[in-house]
Amino acid sequence: MADIMKVGCHLSASGGFLAMGKDAVKVGANVFQFFTRNPRGGTAKAIDPADVAAFHAFCGENGISHLLAHAPYTLNACAANERTLTFARETMADDLVRMEAVPGNLYNFHPGSHVGQGMEKGIELIAETLNMVLKPEQTTTVLLETMAGKGSEVGGRFEELRAILDRVELNDHMGVCLDTCHVHDGGYDVVNDLEGVLREFDRVIGLDRLRAIHLNDSKNPFSSHKDRHEVIGGGSLGLDAVKRIINHPLLRSLPFYLETPNELDGYAKEIALLRSMREE
Ligand code: FE
Ligand code: FE
Ligand code: ZN
Repeated sequence: MADIMKVGCHLSASGGFLAMGKDAVKVGANVFQFFTRNPRGGTAKAIDPADVAAFHAFCGENGISHLLAHAPYTLNACAANERTLTFARETMADDLVRMEAVPGNLYNFHPGSHVGQGMEKGIELIAETLNMVLKPEQTTTVLLETMAGKGSEVGGRFEELRAILDRVELNDHMGVCLDTCHVHDGGYDVVNDLEGVLREFDRVIGLDRLRAIHLNDSKNPFSSHKDRHEVIGGGSLGLDAVKRIINHPLLRSLPFYLETPNELDGYAKEIALLRSMREE
């Protein structure tokens, strides 16, 4: 049987869950990502049980699965400033409680920036944060995102993600989200050596940890450590590399989420393009 490609994009959460489901259908998506709250941080909107119930029914009818919630960018799980660190931990704990309204989905966060404390200390604090917020009974899988290695970012190397996972007690609740723009900017050559990158991912982290792909092209050249997303086919990755990624036997059954600079109509076109490039 032909496997149905799981592909979608980032959607605005401002109208609630059902509105996101409807937007997903509008753009031809069967998975989607959203921010748990304003990407710059702040308080989250209360979850409306009626909205969630209607959303679940809608997802069932329309074949929508694999919700990926993205933590706010301001969340730094290894901040040096105590108030910033406390904010990160409280926000993450609250997000994970809220995620249980839509059980069995994914929660992605940028591991953090060590802001001069050093990579070792950063890794230690991120693991400590996770050990504080993960609960044995949670149904959400928490994903560390692969980063471009900009500034003091943690997670630009697969070894850094491995070191975090090794220190998390409840690490069966943990996985990794691979961002194609970030790894390319970070110096993993997914254009010319996708096989080699996947082999390295498997050797260091383990492919069983890979649970989602952020599918983005990059405005910057290979190994630039920059992190600026480009539309599919419009940047330094190019369409051929994207085609190899979405069809690769080790990746093709994963959910793909576009975080490209687009409005809904642009996303609809990219999703249609990706489906047209899918091989049997
Ligand atoms: Fe991200
Ligand atoms: Fe991303
Ligand atoms: Zn990015």
